[in-house]
Amino acid sequence: MPSLSVHASIARPSPTLAITAKANALRAKGVDVIAFGAGEPDFNTPDPILAAAKQALDEGFTKYTASVGIPALREEAALKFQRENGLDVKAENVVVSCGAKHSVFNALFATVSPGDEVILIAPYWMTYLDQVKLCGGVPVVVSARAEDAYVVDPAAIAAAITPRTKAILMNSPSNPTGAVFPAAVVRQIAELAEKHDLWLISDEIYERLTYGETHVSPGSLAPEMADRTITISGCSKTYSMTGWRIGYMAAPVAVAKAIGAFQDQVTSNPTSFAQKGAIAALKLPDEAVETMRLEFDARRKMALEQLRQIPGLNVPEPKGAFYFFVDASSFCGGDDVVLADRLLEEANVAVVPGSVFEGPGCLRLSYTASRDDLKRGIERIATVLSEWT
Ligand code: PLP
Repeated sequence: MPSLSVHASIARPSPTLAITAKANALRAKGVDVIAFGAGEPDFNTPDPILAAAKQALDEGFTKYTASVGIPALREEAALKFQRENGLDVKAENVVVSCGAKHSVFNALFATVSPGDEVILIAPYWMTYLDQVKLCGGVPVVVSARAEDAYVVDPAAIAAAITPRTKAILMNSPSNPTGAVFPAAVVRQIAELAEKHDLWLISDEIYERLTYGETHVSPGSLAPEMADRTITISGCSKTYSMTGWRIGYMAAPVAVAKAIGAFQDQVTSNPTSFAQKGAIAALKLPDEAVETMRLEFDARRKMALEQLRQIPGLNVPEPKGAFYFFVDASSFCGGDDVVLADRLLEEANVAVVPGSVFEGPGCLRLSYTASRDDLKRGIERIATVLSEWT
């Protein structure tokens, strides 16, 4: 066989999917596995969204559309970015892609040239690292600390900026930590981008899932930020639409055009009838999203209390998304991969090792499970850890 390309050695298979596969194999043997590994809401996609997609299918809306998305969806997303994010954007600034993961890749591909440095804030969603490398970029990692509830110190970002820095990639609310950056921190990051003439790529996919902390979009902070900010969101987490693959971004028109050209050549349009579902999603009344947010918040509070009673764990309070990022470094000599493996084997609970996100010694637990499963799963973890040798 001829050799593979340099690109083929960059992207790693998703460890989250590997854990799910292992959990499924145990289930197939009849084991009652409780899954805290998934990164997707456990609710059904709301009915009006389903109805809109079904209607689109019935009406034969099954052909190619514009690569950047249908005008009505770009318009609706622009209204959303104005209304919810305070961005001064129009439909021409919006590109709809095949999930926010695709939007992030497009944003990096449009702004990062080989050798450019991109600042990532650890613990980070592992996709960022691989995507930066796929673009030929050089990831430069700045760590946020558990004692700061994983809110990054802007001074640490400032210290990491070099003449080769091209972009800062931020993600608030964060996967995996649940950190929500307060307005003052977001402002300081935006000022750094402005001062050093950098792109600020802001992945805001969890923006509607915050608990007592207000989400701030850096692109809304000053008119100048509009020229250097790419704001990314999508339907997956807010509307429980992970399989629909609809993400959207607001970007300067030149960026949107460049990305439109990539999509012309690489994917063409996001699925036609999913786009119709996305329009219905963006038109949903706030209560539909609020119901899901309140349920996540109730689970978050319940699980936080329970987790904090387990000796040896340090559990910062997550203010957003649907994850706990628990410092468990006092177990397994800090080897979180071994710890996650043993929890699956001995407690039959699936969690994701923190080193996947460059958070060694930690575990990520999603509270996308029912309250009952959360309670039972944490009880099992507590039992196994209390008998730890
Ligand atoms: N950004 C972050 C931080 C995520 O955690 C995820 C999904 O897990 C995504 C983006 C991608 O979402 P989508 O399903 O829209 O591709």
